[in-house]
Amino acid sequence: QVRVRFPPSPTGLLTVGNIRSALFNWAFARHYGGKLVLRIEDTDTARNTPEALQYTLDSLRWLGLTWDEGPEVGGEYGPYLQSERMDIYADVVAKLLAAGKAYHCYCSQEELEQRREAARSAGQHSGYDGHCRSLTPEQVQAYIDEGRRPVVRLRMPDRPITFDDLVRGEITFLPENLGDYVLVRANGHPLYPLVNPVDDALMQITHVLRGEDLLSSTPRQIALYEALAEIGVGPGRTPMFGHLPFVMGEGNKKLSKRDPGSGLGEYMERGFLPEGLLNYLALLGWSIADDRDVFTMDEMIKAFDIRKVNANAARFDPKKCEAINASHMRLLDPADFANRVVPYLAKTGVLPAEPSDEQRAVLAAAVPLVQERMNTLSEAPDMLGFLFVPDEAFTIDPDAAAKVLTGDAGAVLEATSKALSGLGDWTTEAIEQALRTSLIEGLGLKPKNAFGPVRVAISGRRISPPLFESLELLGRERSLHRLEQARA
Ligand code: GLU
Repeated sequence: QVRVRFPPSPTGLLTVGNIRSALFNWAFARHYGGKLVLRIEDTDTARNTPEALQYTLDSLRWLGLTWDEGPEVGGEYGPYLQSERMDIYADVVAKLLAAGKAYHCYCSQEELEQRREAARSAGQHSGYDGHCRSLTPEQVQAYIDEGRRPVVRLRMPDRPITFDDLVRGEITFLPENLGDYVLVRANGHPLYPLVNPVDDALMQITHVLRGEDLLSSTPRQIALYEALAEIGVGPGRTPMFGHLPFVMGEGNKKLSKRDPGSGLGEYMERGFLPEGLLNYLALLGWSIADDRDVFTMDEMIKAFDIRKVNANAARFDPKKCEAINASHMRLLDPADFANRVVPYLAKTGVLPAEPSDEQRAVLAAAVPLVQERMNTLSEAPDMLGFLFVPDEAFTIDPDAAAKVLTGDAGAVLEATSKALSGLGDWTTEAIEQALRTSLIEGLGLKPKNAFGPVRVAISGRRISPPLFESLELLGRERSLHRLEQARA
């Protein structure tokens, strides 16, 4: 059975890169009917907080990236927080030491630095030189007597390490580039290069799909898997690896968590749909077909093939991300669309969190007018606010007023009021007919000059849902009132 994992460090930030990794693991697991394990890499206690963990879990749930084992859902390979697994790591390290797969290293930082410098000037590789690999018991005792506290290093094999990367094909690392590396600090703190593979082994992970930034740690981790297999920890096999391409931001630099547009919070705030954001992130390295960008997560699951992921760096394009989201907005059922904009209307005070039946009816009637025109849900207050504000709170955007309510605008609004006040049927068609007759034929105006001032007067903005429909929705009385206010 396929078992993959997503192991975030809960530092309070999920980036689009993290989420892309989570998404590909999730799609891979679902495609094969396997399991996705969520493991929390929280051994760096200084940087991890319970709030950050909760934020991580809530974010994944918001995205719909469900996990089969992990926090809140449990599972038979727990605990799933590394901070609760410290005794497991201590036990594994003791076994590695006893079997000679790892050893204590007493070198001080200064000594390491000196020898590294010397090696560098002699043109040799500058990784750990193996100084403490085979100390005699007397040498060990002497270091202990000096009061030195050792780190634990893995004894790396003296041969190339080759693996078949699921994305990049065969990759080989030479031993001279793979010094014995530190598993446990002198203060006893176990490090990522130890705990991550140990947990992958104990949690029976079959495939490790993660960012390319971790590629250089893979040969070391493979050596550790092999050592674990020999001491009987885990399933006795090494997982397959697939390294997902870098995500590049502005200026073709790797997208960093400090770049705008890199953090998930922004997308939630701006009212992206989870399915829209995920669809775009899926395109960072993968495609469903040459001529197709928009797809559902069910379609992705069905089609996902890690071997088809492109190894070349992917460019993060905020405009395309928004366009893909807009496509998903259009695909929503109108009632669903209405429900999803309510929180954004509520956040800005346009509607209460629980709108009345009457407000819901106006919203339902307005949805078809705006669904095609919005890229994100947070545009709703600007688009729809004018329908819900009480007249005494209605204001006109000063910039729109300065640009549009000038020159002939007064005459246009006056003619509009006259045409509309005597109108029999208050319907979109009748309104349109009356305004065309009075403004275009009557005053001889171009549509832009005729309808621009009316739009600003009734919506307060230069961009609104279609004008005649908006007037119908707003109702005769309120429309006339606003036309009058705009002339004042
Ligand atoms: N906790 C690591 C990270 O967030 C996990 C890396 C991995 O997938 O091995 O970068």
